[in-house]
Amino acid sequence: MVLDWLVAYLFRWLPRSAPTGLFAIGNPDENSPVIVTANFSLTIRRLRRALQGQNLWLLVANSQGINVWCAADGGIFTDNRVVDAIKVSGLVDRVKHRQVILPALSAPGIDLEAIRRETGFRARFGPVYGKDIPAYLEGRKKKTEAMRRFEFGLEHRLDMFVSMNFPIYLLVAAPLALFWPQYFVGYTILFWSAVAFLYLFLDQIPGKTGWGQAFWCATLLVLLWAGMDWLLRGDPFLHWGWLLASFGIFFAAAFDIAGVVSARRADPELLMQRLGFKSFGSLYNDKQLGLIGLDRDKCNGCRACSDICPVGVYGELDQDKKIAFRNRNACFACGACAKQCGQGALSVA
Ligand code: SF4
Ligand code: SF4
Repeated sequence: MVLDWLVAYLFRWLPRSAPTGLFAIGNPDENSPVIVTANFSLTIRRLRRALQGQNLWLLVANSQGINVWCAADGGIFTDNRVVDAIKVSGLVDRVKHRQVILPALSAPGIDLEAIRRETGFRARFGPVYGKDIPAYLEGRKKKTEAMRRFEFGLEHRLDMFVSMNFPIYLLVAAPLALFWPQYFVGYTILFWSAVAFLYLFLDQIPGKTGWGQAFWCATLLVLLWAGMDWLLRGDPFLHWGWLLASFGIFFAAAFDIAGVVSARRADPELLMQRLGFKSFGSLYNDKQLGLIGLDRDKCNGCRACSDICPVGVYGELDQDKKIAFRNRNACFACGACAKQCGQGALSVA
């Protein structure tokens, strides 16, 4: 059990499937709410913990073992998967009502109307975090502003710190330990120091991309290191191998940092775009990576976009009852609002 959790945690980059189907949390009955989620094992484990003491149904749909956000963004966790889960689980015989609550971060891949059409169930997006579900249910399914937001702060970074970087660390650490053990400790210290520095000071380090920020950090380290060697030993290139390696280590440590711990697209995605790729398997599905655009003439002020944007790009309706941007530059082109806009007023370009 502990080993299973450890593997799931340390390799959360990799898909890890949990069983799909309908599960009882507590003692649900025919009136109990239905929470839908994806079959990523870490998510299921955390959700079950967050829902302790509740009486509800947990409907686990197939996302191929990938977390909700990535699977929805990659076109894997879609309305088709939710429709399948509803039909196969026999939910219609378990509850009298016809409502399901979806994870907010599934919005980039879900067409709510398609779920209603195919199953008769009205789907709506709940809070971003599972831990907020009890309060959301108690509050008659009204979301507070905080329940709509994804937090990229210290708590999230601590959660991601080891799990997102361990596989990258291992790629070099394993061959070093086997063939060049004399470099293993130095590499380990340098790698985790680089990751810690980037995670702690990401918002203060200049640069628009993770790799750009990593470059500045590595340059600073190399200059300091070479300067110290020059002053103390008279040779700035005494550790030239480590100086060179520092660039590679910072580059590796920042591989996906922009996409994981800040509201930006990941560097590999940006690189793909610059190289002219429009898609890459199920990971980058023919995406636009630009800023969100609004066609005011089409907007009817329904506010579906502001309900679902995880970074607060939208503000209130303006005097013409059209949605207004509050912080358009915060947009990282997840596409959720464009998918949910029934008027086709939004596009990422
Ligand atoms: S979802 Fe579309 S129609 Fe609704 S407020 Fe936003 S832009 Fe306007
Ligand atoms: S405004 Fe940008 S970040 Fe917000 S939901 Fe739309 S595409 Fe995603």
